[in-house]
Amino acid sequence: MKYIGAHVSASGGVENAPLNAHEIGATAFALFTKNQRQWFAPPLSEGSISEFKRRCAEYGYSPSQILPHDSYLINLGSPDAEGLKKSRESFREELHRCEQLGLDRLNFHPGSHLGKISESDCLKTVAESINLALQQTKGVTAVIENTAGQGTNVGSRFEHLRTIIDLVDDKSRIGVCIDTAHAFAAGYNLIGEKAFTETFATFDSVVGFNYLRGMHLNDSKKDLGTRVDRHEVLGKGFIGKELFRMIMSDARFNGIPLILETPDPSLWKEEIAWLKQQVV
Ligand SMILES: [Zn+2]
Ligand SMILES: [Zn+2]
Repeated sequence: MKYIGAHVSASGGVENAPLNAHEIGATAFALFTKNQRQWFAPPLSEGSISEFKRRCAEYGYSPSQILPHDSYLINLGSPDAEGLKKSRESFREELHRCEQLGLDRLNFHPGSHLGKISESDCLKTVAESINLALQQTKGVTAVIENTAGQGTNVGSRFEHLRTIIDLVDDKSRIGVCIDTAHAFAAGYNLIGEKAFTETFATFDSVVGFNYLRGMHLNDSKKDLGTRVDRHEVLGKGFIGKELFRMIMSDARFNGIPLILETPDPSLWKEEIAWLKQQVV
């Protein structure tokens, strides 16, 4: 079964996300459980939590179809003591919000070394942050997203994801999300069947499909290996539509949220319908 959706708005309350997803014909969705540009937020109200759960049940969204994303401010690999402390507290709070909503995974970007520590020290700090967060929460899997490698961000190589996984104690609560635009910008070719086969064979041998907990389906405004993170509408960017057709007919991507983060929300309904047509 393919679960297909988009990162929908939760403006006005998390309970609006399943409604917004339903309106565009989505069978999966992503959301921010709080303002993504703030470190901390007031706790979720009982009313919001129960209405979120009620609507998810009404529209048929189970936890395996929902991929919450954390705040953009969090840097779990921060070289700065104050920044790291704040990031860890904020991340723990985000995991807790997912727990309260009955969700089972939280998608996040690994972190940035900010040019102050080595890449490998940054990856170690990220893993340590995840270990601390998992000890303090329960039931929610930490889902690391691959990055485009822009600036000082770590996580653009599948090996980075592997290094973090290796250092996480509880392997049952660690997973990954592959963003197609990030992978392409990071230098993983996804154009044509041969490149698709090779890239995902590399992914499987380095990380393993058993850790895949979600996908972000985005075309890329920037070319292969540019390390610039700019999403594009499916078929309008450098990757092209064929990749998404291949993903839709590949059983390795079954049973996980497949999420559009393409730049034009008015096209999501159409993009989702097209993706559904490609499922064989
Ligand atoms: Zn992301
Ligand atoms: Zn993404």
